Amino acid sequence: AEGRVYNFSAGPSAMPLEVLQEVQREMVNYKGSGMSVMEMSHRSKEFMAIAAEAEKNLRDIFDVPSDYKVLMLQGGATLQFSTVALNMLGTKGKADYLVTGQWGEKAHKECNKYGTGQLACNTKSTKFTTIPQKSEWKLDTEAAYVHYCANETVNGVEFSYTPDVGSVPLVADMSSNFCSKPIEVGKHAYIYAGIQKNLGPAGMAVGFLRPDFADGSKELKICPTYCSFKTTGDNGSMYNTPACFTLYVMGEYLKYTKKVGGLAHWAEQSDKKSGMLYGMIDGSDGFYQCPVEKSARSRMNVPFTIKGGDEALEKKFLDEAKKHKLYTLAGHRSVGGCRASLYNGLPLEGVATLTDFMKSFMDENR
Ligand code: PMP
Repeated sequence: AEGRVYNFSAGPSAMPLEVLQEVQREMVNYKGSGMSVMEMSHRSKEFMAIAAEAEKNLRDIFDVPSDYKVLMLQGGATLQFSTVALNMLGTKGKADYLVTGQWGEKAHKECNKYGTGQLACNTKSTKFTTIPQKSEWKLDTEAAYVHYCANETVNGVEFSYTPDVGSVPLVADMSSNFCSKPIEVGKHAYIYAGIQKNLGPAGMAVGFLRPDFADGSKELKICPTYCSFKTTGDNGSMYNTPACFTLYVMGEYLKYTKKVGGLAHWAEQSDKKSGMLYGMIDGSDGFYQCPVEKSARSRMNVPFTIKGGDEALEKKFLDEAKKHKLYTLAGHRSVGGCRASLYNGLPLEGVATLTDFMKSFMDENR
């Protein structure tokens, strides 16, 4: 592992070293099969076992109700924006979106291609730094579903609770806080997440689907076969060739997750890491600032500015950080500033190194 850095990338992102090393050990000849997982038929008994074990571990780790479908999908979370609308709008034709950041905004926009995406809330005017109280949401009891983004990766806004939307089916994009804490699967009709933050490399998404949406009854006629929940579910997520290698690496990450103590372990780590960084920011007397309201702050993505957004100083910060092995701390191109993503693969010592560096940088540049 020589030469590795502390990688604060927002995704694809740092993976636990142990997982990478196990994949390396098995790379060329997987368990005596004489071939790499990359080279195997997805119908081979070795690969079928890999997929079955990954599904079982997802069910165990996330405590997925037994009647829910577990879907392993391609196209990232972006394809899920349309897939959700195409499979869930049904004859109602309209859905509510709680928009608290750029990803929720994109999901909402995609719904409007196939039906009517209604804005139950939209915090764009606060530059996506808040989550409004439920009393301010405009919910339509006739909506086909309510969609929310559990963690907004660019803006650093996270729901710390499952939104209560009554009897309307609840849909969540959990891409960037998936596998970071226990979740209430049974309160959702559908949860989806791209796995390249906390659970593996890029290339696929995982879905947990309530059975009343798995039978095709709410699928729009124009839904591509490839996106059909029913087709995917009926074929064990192998209607076509899956992202085999990505799926295998996710499987290794899941096994590792079980070994270290499951979601409770990742939740504890995430609380510690984000607590350290927000403590540093809030204790800096305004030298560093996080624009997000405290109750809505993300444990995964921490955006911050330096001296009220001094771009020259931010550039100096990013350059000097590299000398301490602190990489990928630039904010999203759309918002600027800095951003530290604290996913599972980033060890606690990485955050300690970052906060030590932030302290000395502040002392030198006040
Ligand atoms: N939703 C969220 C919350 C994300 O963070 C991302 C990716 N950063 C996406 C959706 C889109 O995922 P993908 O690039 O895998 O399509």
